[in-house]
Amino acid sequence: PDALDPALRRPGRFDREIEIGIPDEPGRLEILEIHSRGMPFTEDVNLNSIAKVTHGFVGADLESVCREAAMRSLRKILPEINLEESKIPIETLNKIKITAQDFENALKEIQPSALREVYIQKPCVKWTDIGGLEEVKNELKESIEWPLKHADLFSDADITPPKGILLFGPPGTGKTLIAKAVAANSDSNFISIKGPELLSKWVGESEKGVREVFRKARQASPCVIFFDELDSVAPRRSSTGGDSHVGERLVSQLLTEMDGLEDLKGVVVIGATNRPDIIDEALLRPGRFDRLCEVPAPDNEAIKEILRIHMAKKPVDKAVDLDKLAERAKGFTGADIAALVKAAAISAIKEYITVNRNETNNKKLENGIHASNS
Ligand code: ADP
Repeated sequence: PDALDPALRRPGRFDREIEIGIPDEPGRLEILEIHSRGMPFTEDVNLNSIAKVTHGFVGADLESVCREAAMRSLRKILPEINLEESKIPIETLNKIKITAQDFENALKEIQPSALREVYIQKPCVKWTDIGGLEEVKNELKESIEWPLKHADLFSDADITPPKGILLFGPPGTGKTLIAKAVAANSDSNFISIKGPELLSKWVGESEKGVREVFRKARQASPCVIFFDELDSVAPRRSSTGGDSHVGERLVSQLLTEMDGLEDLKGVVVIGATNRPDIIDEALLRPGRFDRLCEVPAPDNEAIKEILRIHMAKKPVDKAVDLDKLAERAKGFTGADIAALVKAAAISAIKEYITVNRNETNNKKLENGIHASNS
């Protein structure tokens, strides 16, 4: 609507504006019911739970979810159908049943269209994927996950949950990871914006970018907005210098949006920075990023846990001594440890390939010699 000539939108011309929004959960359930009418379901299909997880899906998306699930169940019995015959026997048709698994697979394929421009993810990081950081985890569980998950309790008790939380700590300590875990565990969507991206992606109209991000988050609520490298978007206003007022305008827009979050439940902003000292103070006032959480570099115990997490799915030799390894990895951040384990795995693959390659080469050589001898 913003692209229309304002003259068209004034009273006397198009004088009513009706926004047709993205459907909410009950709306989605109704749409699903309509499009799955008459579909043969198995008993495990629960439209309620599908409606619950399809934030940001519009009617057309839900229709294609139903269609895709049906196509999947069809494909399963396709081999049994003789396409040469003019009629398909009723017993075969009766076998078509759409299962919850079909729906799950369909959901993997269909991207909600409301969420396309500002990229919205549905992360699947579990709390157990994060080593150490117990305090931060608990704090975030209480102040974000609970209000998003049990919004009714919080409104009954008349508590306004925090709107913004600022994570600060050295790079690679798991700030992004933890923000993703919050979103995943509260069944929320996740928008991740890097500060510098905001400045470059919407050149000359970064405020519009901020507006767009919040608009999308509202549509896709419950939603966690993650502003990484917040210091680059919102440095102290005086320190931006006189180059341009982009920073200043951006901060103002961010403040406006965060102040306006009151009436939109289900949107939480998590900021991350490694320089909390240079963040604009206005952002740290109550009602904005009013909680500061330190994400420290891991201690020995945490290092061990992170090692364990990253080694869990890898075929690690029993001789690997976790304690010794942790001792040597002193001072590593989570990202360093992840890189360490990855490098070790790659080196193991390299070894394997060289050994096996040489073996086959030798064999070939031997065979060759034998052959020529005979
Ligand atoms: P930050 O946002 O603080 O710079 P990230 O969250 O992007 O750091 O971390 C980068 C990677 O490092 C993660 O994807 C993860 O593999 C690993 N990592 C960091 N911290 C942890 C942790 N506490 N537990 C497990 N993995 C971690």
